[in-house]
Amino acid sequence: MSGSALYETFARAPLTFERGEGSWLIEASGARYLDFAGGIAVNSLGHSHPHLVAALRDQAEKLWHVSNLYNVPGQQRLAQRLAENTFADRVFFTNSGAEALECAIKTARRYHYVNGNPERYRIITFEGAFHGRTLATIAAGGQAKYLEGFGPKVEGFDQVAFGDIEAAEKAITPETAGILIEPVQGEGGIRDLPTEKLRRLREICDRHGLLLILDEVQCGIGRTGKLFAYEWAGIEPDIMAIAKGIGGGFPMGACLATEEAAKGMTAGVHGTTFGGNPLAMAVGNAVLDVVLEDGFLDEVKRKSLAFKQGLAGIVDEFPGVFEEVRGVGLLLGLKCRMPNTSVNAAFRANNFLAVPAGENVVRLLPPLNVTDDEIRIALDAIRAGAKSLSSAAGAA
Ligand SMILES: *Cc1c(COP(=O)(O)O)cnc(C)c1O
Repeated sequence: MSGSALYETFARAPLTFERGEGSWLIEASGARYLDFAGGIAVNSLGHSHPHLVAALRDQAEKLWHVSNLYNVPGQQRLAQRLAENTFADRVFFTNSGAEALECAIKTARRYHYVNGNPERYRIITFEGAFHGRTLATIAAGGQAKYLEGFGPKVEGFDQVAFGDIEAAEKAITPETAGILIEPVQGEGGIRDLPTEKLRRLREICDRHGLLLILDEVQCGIGRTGKLFAYEWAGIEPDIMAIAKGIGGGFPMGACLATEEAAKGMTAGVHGTTFGGNPLAMAVGNAVLDVVLEDGFLDEVKRKSLAFKQGLAGIVDEFPGVFEEVRGVGLLLGLKCRMPNTSVNAAFRANNFLAVPAGENVVRLLPPLNVTDDEIRIALDAIRAGAKSLSSAAGAA
């Protein structure tokens, strides 16, 4: 045994943090790391944000958990605010992204069922997608590495190449219920779907009576510079799963739907014990207080531009290390020419934290309230990391 009773499912970096302050994580030794991993796009407002801490502490002194046997006022309020600021009329709260996707998939299947078309349960998804690690969401994501060894793949998902809109339309059969896509693939390697393609998917769904289901678990809640990424395309989905950033570090997610799409989700057909817990709702409402402030998202866009320009300069400077900058808003990636895990380790050696993703990309996910100064520090650390890698390669 390796000295731990934990499952060995994670290859953890040899770092142990004791506390966080804004964009920084701090070890017991006092060593400080600039955190552009953000708990994988979760810490949308950094660590220990005073407004979030106050919201959680106030709620903790009143009530932690009652289940969904009773009214939870924080749920009513957060659902109302999400509805007012999106396409949605209805919201179901969950504890995680995968559960939000499970609810989205069930909502889509149930919609066709109550319309008298129970045969319409299949969902079209895209290669490179990541929708979670439950049995249904690994089937939806379709990645062999996550499916292997877990028995028969859950039925009902048909996958086409990312961004191949013609293939998606060709894959439609009388059994298709909807199309599920991340407007920007996160785990898949920060691949954004051109807005024109999202508009075409909307048209295809309308033409075939399908539901358009978006996974904005990673790209939602201001990450791209709009509250939700679909806004860039000027379209609206029928169903959307969110999580990560809405909790700012407290585990929570939600499935949002139009009144029409949610019509099959009646009393007793779906449920959760913890979902919509008062502590989670207090934090979710506090995150929205900040993200919906006037000018907040404009600042995300401004900082994104500055960061991207700096990154483009570094890519030009180190063509042996980096191939290109990718992404939207503060959901950015550096496609690497060297193994992304080596690049990530070189960043870490410079007290800078990022996250590897698919397609040999390193993801950069700063808090949305990152400062200009911190962006400069990040660029310096990235340059220093690249320099150490290119001199090592040169010496070899
Ligand atoms: C992280 C993620 C999920 C899964 O969320 P969990 O909270 O880990 O279950 C689903 N979809 C996308 C796009 C994600 O980034």
